[in-house]
Amino acid sequence: MLEPIMTERECGQLRSLIADAETIVLCCHQNADGDAVGAVLAMGEVVRLMGKEPLMVVPDQYPDYLQWMPNSEKLVRYDRRRDYVDMVLKIADLVICLDFNTLSRTDQMADSLAASPARKVLIDHHLGPDIDTVLTVSRPQASSTCELVFRVVWQLGLFDRLGRHFAIPVYCGMMTDTGGFTYNSTDCDIYYIISQLLTKRIDKDKIYRNVYHNYSEHRLRMVGHVLCNCLVVDQERHAAYYTLSREDQQRFHFIKGDAEGLVNMPLQIKGLKLSVSLREDTERQMIWVSLRSVDDFPCNEVAARFFNGGGHLNASGGKLACTLDEAVRIVHQAFLAFEDKLK
Ligand code: 5GP
Ligand code: MN
Repeated sequence: MLEPIMTERECGQLRSLIADAETIVLCCHQNADGDAVGAVLAMGEVVRLMGKEPLMVVPDQYPDYLQWMPNSEKLVRYDRRRDYVDMVLKIADLVICLDFNTLSRTDQMADSLAASPARKVLIDHHLGPDIDTVLTVSRPQASSTCELVFRVVWQLGLFDRLGRHFAIPVYCGMMTDTGGFTYNSTDCDIYYIISQLLTKRIDKDKIYRNVYHNYSEHRLRMVGHVLCNCLVVDQERHAAYYTLSREDQQRFHFIKGDAEGLVNMPLQIKGLKLSVSLREDTERQMIWVSLRSVDDFPCNEVAARFFNGGGHLNASGGKLACTLDEAVRIVHQAFLAFEDKLK
């Protein structure tokens, strides 16, 4: 059995917040991943079950490998429908924020979210939520926001009435945020939840293939190129980084999602503790930084101190407003600053 995640009072509060609201917006962070999109789509099913049609918003483009998900065609991109979403946010009664801890993670949507008179509910698994809400369900130890959405639904007693269109995105989010259940996935409750999701007749092997075997030939060759020519391994400090320049992205017809999983690959080297990805933005002069670590090495501390970011102990991100060469220098500084913990 699953432990309750909300108090009885919070449970009743969430039920009436949804029941009393006329206009409901569901949203997630920019550069949405499987967990973010999954949580929005799954929560969408819950709201629909309660008789409302929510507006489901992603701040910007999300990866192709998620576009097969049921109801994904209903997702509205803020960067494309800004006026419309702003108008809805102005009259919304309830905004459910999923998979982010601070409004700035929604990028251009942050100001409109802050200005919206709607009451806000947060369901998230990032450290240190700072959003002004009437209800916050924050569990940094959870595998994913989708796991939390499941637990909320379970506690509300709604799971029996939901079907595959709920189970598929929940499974997808839990799977993608744990690298196919290879990290952050040792809690036995996860497998209880999966066993419940499977009762909805989802094909988990197909979900895996839809997400992970959905790349172009170009992407596979880009991975080969990066690992062969762009990866720098600091054997002494058990750390590695690679660069993915704008030119290389053009050469390999880079599309959103093509870098997914790449930053984990250097960790396949025996003894490596930290992997850093530096990807040049294709339009703006800035570098997207992704960090992954193993065991107790805190890559979120590195992200916060050197890359204007943060995240989880073993998976973090950030950004730098500089050139790729300058970013490389910062990575070297970071490796040096953390060498005691890396060795
Ligand atoms: P990714 O490498 O997949 O972009 O990000 C990994 C994790 O790092 C995300 O799930 C998120 O928790 C965190 N993260 C990524 N970018 C940022 C950022 O700019 N700020 C903060 N605080 N966390 C980030
Ligand atoms: Mn997540």
